Amino acid sequence: MSHNSNSPQGLVMVNTGDGKGKTTAALGLALRAVGHGQQVCIIQFMKGDPNYGELQALRQYLPMIRLESTGTTDFVDRDNPTPTDLDEAERGIVMAEEAVQQGYNLVILDEINVAIDFGLIPLERVLRLIKNRPPHSHLLLTGRYAPQPLLDLADTVSTISDTKHHFYKGIPAQPGIEH
Ligand code: ATP
Ligand code: MG
Repeated sequence: MSHNSNSPQGLVMVNTGDGKGKTTAALGLALRAVGHGQQVCIIQFMKGDPNYGELQALRQYLPMIRLESTGTTDFVDRDNPTPTDLDEAERGIVMAEEAVQQGYNLVILDEINVAIDFGLIPLERVLRLIKNRPPHSHLLLTGRYAPQPLLDLADTVSTISDTKHHFYKGIPAQPGIEH
């Protein structure tokens, strides 16, 4: 590929907004990075359901991508998270802090913006993780409701808007599309 290969510059990227495609775009980035032989770690928050196509595909076809899921199969009550919700989020952020320090080329923190918004993870802890990362590490944080201080710190913010969604036509979630 013809581009200047300056020394790698670790980027902070955010996929947010209320439209569809934040997580799937993150998976596309993981695919791109692993294609260059880069080390990739994906940590999911508030996603305990094993029935996502990407989980099966990654485990079966791309086992070199480290994948950690946290959370339960239940919806989190924003106003009243359970102790398990909090414990699982803590488990996720500890793994994220360790993964970042381990120097992966790309760490994806899927739905972490929602975990911050729901009060499961303190924003300050995430900002500290970003600031303390090794200079070559790329970070991608996904999920709606990304807080302003995170957007301020990011190099790239993609806000995906909900121009239309088939859900509003009454079309239920489809395997391979929604999960
Ligand atoms: P995807 O995982 O498909 O890339 P996403 O990460 O952008 O989507 P989330 O906000 O994490 O979307 O939502 C999870 C699921 O909810 C997605 O599969 C998506 O199709 C669905 N969804 C997204 N936006 C809406 C909406 N406005 N109404 C109903 N369902 C939605
Ligand atoms: Mg998502």
